[in-house]
Amino acid sequence: MSGQPYLSTADLAMFFDTHHDGITDDLLNFAAHWSPREYSDDWLATRDAVKQLSANKVSDLCIPERYHGRPVNNPVDIDARAITLARECMGYLDGLLDCAFAMQGLGSYPISLAGNEDQKSRYLPGFISGERIGAFALTEPKAGSDVGSLKMKAKQDKNGDYLLTGQKTYISNAGVASQYIVFANANPRKKSRGITAFIVEPNDNGVKIDPFEVMAPHPIGTLTLRKTRVPATRRLGEEGEGFKIAMQTLNTFRLSVAGAALGMARRALDEATKHAMEREQFGGPLFEQQQIAAMLADSATELDAARLLVYRAAYLRDMRDIFGSDAAKEVAMAKLYATESASKIIDRCVQIHGGLGVKKGSVPERLYREVRALRIYEGASEIQRVVIARQMQKDYEFVKSLEEG
Ligand SMILES: Cc1cc2nc3c(=O)[nH]c(=O)nc-3n(C[C@H](O)[C@H](O)[C@H](O)COP(=O)(O)OP(=O)(O)OC[C@H]3O[C@@H](n4cnc5c(N)ncnc54)[C@H](O)[C@@H]3O)c2cc1C
Repeated sequence: MSGQPYLSTADLAMFFDTHHDGITDDLLNFAAHWSPREYSDDWLATRDAVKQLSANKVSDLCIPERYHGRPVNNPVDIDARAITLARECMGYLDGLLDCAFAMQGLGSYPISLAGNEDQKSRYLPGFISGERIGAFALTEPKAGSDVGSLKMKAKQDKNGDYLLTGQKTYISNAGVASQYIVFANANPRKKSRGITAFIVEPNDNGVKIDPFEVMAPHPIGTLTLRKTRVPATRRLGEEGEGFKIAMQTLNTFRLSVAGAALGMARRALDEATKHAMEREQFGGPLFEQQQIAAMLADSATELDAARLLVYRAAYLRDMRDIFGSDAAKEVAMAKLYATESASKIIDRCVQIHGGLGVKKGSVPERLYREVRALRIYEGASEIQRVVIARQMQKDYEFVKSLEEG
C-alpha cells in the first residue's frame, strides 16, 4: 500500500483532461522504477536523481514544448498541473528526489523565459538529457522574503562584461549545479527595477561555494561572488528585467511546492493507516481506538481539501490566458493550506507510530524533517497570507467601485 504514490486524477476530473492521464502513467512508471540508493553525500544523490529523472523522461515536464520539452495541451508553455502532479509523486517517494526535480525547473525556466536562441540551445538540451543540473540564486543574507532589496551588484566594465560582487545564501544545489541563475542589481538607484539576471558558471573567476546542512537531505549552500566576470552574452534578458524573470519563474513553480506537500502528506497517511491497522494494543488494532481513528479521519479530510485547492489553482494557472487572471490568490491559498496541513498530517503520523515515529531512519521521522522547509521556501506561509489578504482588499475595492457605478 505505501510503496506507490496515489496519483489518480479521476476524483478531480473537472481540473484535468486526458492529456494528463498519459503524464500520470509516466509518473507511476517512474515511481515503479525509482531506486533510492545509499550515498556518501547529498550531491552524489542529486546527480543520480537527475539522471534517473532524465532516463525516465520526467525532466522534460519542466521545459516548454518549443525547446523539445513535454507537449502541453493548454494555452501556456509549462503545464502547472503536470509539474504539480510530478512533485506529488516525488514528494511521496523521496524529499531529495523532489528537490532535484524542482531545481531542474527553477534552474532552467529563466532561460526558457528570457534567454536568447544561443543561450537556449547551449543550456536547455542538457536539462532534458540530465547533463545539466540547475540552481536559482535569489536569496541573500539580508534579503529573504523581501527579495526586491537584494544587494548583489553587477557593474559593467568598458568591454561590456559584468563584474558581479555579493553573496547568495540558501541556494539549493550549490556545489552540484552546472550553472547558477544569479540575480544582481546593475543599477541600484533604480532599486528592484535595476535587478538583472545572469548565468554564472561554477568555474568563473571569484566564485566560492560554502555548503551547509539543513535538517533534511538537501544539497544547499552559500554562493559568494567577488568581481566575477560574466560576459554580456550570459545576461538573461535586458538590464532591469531580472525581478520580473524571478517572479515569473516563482509564480510558475510555487504551486508545485504544494504538490510536494500533498505527496509527503499522502505518504504519511498511508504509513499511519497501515500502522494503525496492523499494530495491536489493548487487544486490538490501534485503528479501533477512537482517538487514533479521529486523527486519521481528520488527516484524510485535510489531504482531500488540500488536493482540491491545489489542482483548482493549477487548472486556473494553466488557463490564465483564457480567464485573464494569474490566479495569485488561489495559488497562495493552495501553497499555504497544503504545506501547513501536510505538517499537521505528518505530525499525527509520527504520533500514531509512537516511539517508532521518532526513530532515526523510520519513514515518519524522515517525512517530519523533509516537510518543514516547504512552509518557508518560495514564499513563507506568512507571505502567502499577505498575498491572499491583498487580493481580498482589491476584490473588495472592485466590487465597491461597481456598486458605486
Ligand atoms: C531548504 C531551503 C531551500 C532554499 N532554496 C533556495 C534557492 O534555491 N534559491 C533561493 O534563492 N532561495 C532559496 N531558499 C531561501 C528561501 O526562499 C527563503 O528562506 C525564504 O524566502 C524566506 O527568507 P528568509 O529565510 O530570509 O526569512 P525572512 O524573510 O527573514 O523571514 C523570517 C520570518 O519572518 C516572516 N516574515 C517576513 N516578512 C514578513 C511580513 N511582511 N509579514 C509577516 N511575516 C513576515 C517570514 O514568513 C518568516 O517566517 C531556500 C530556503 C530553504 C529553507
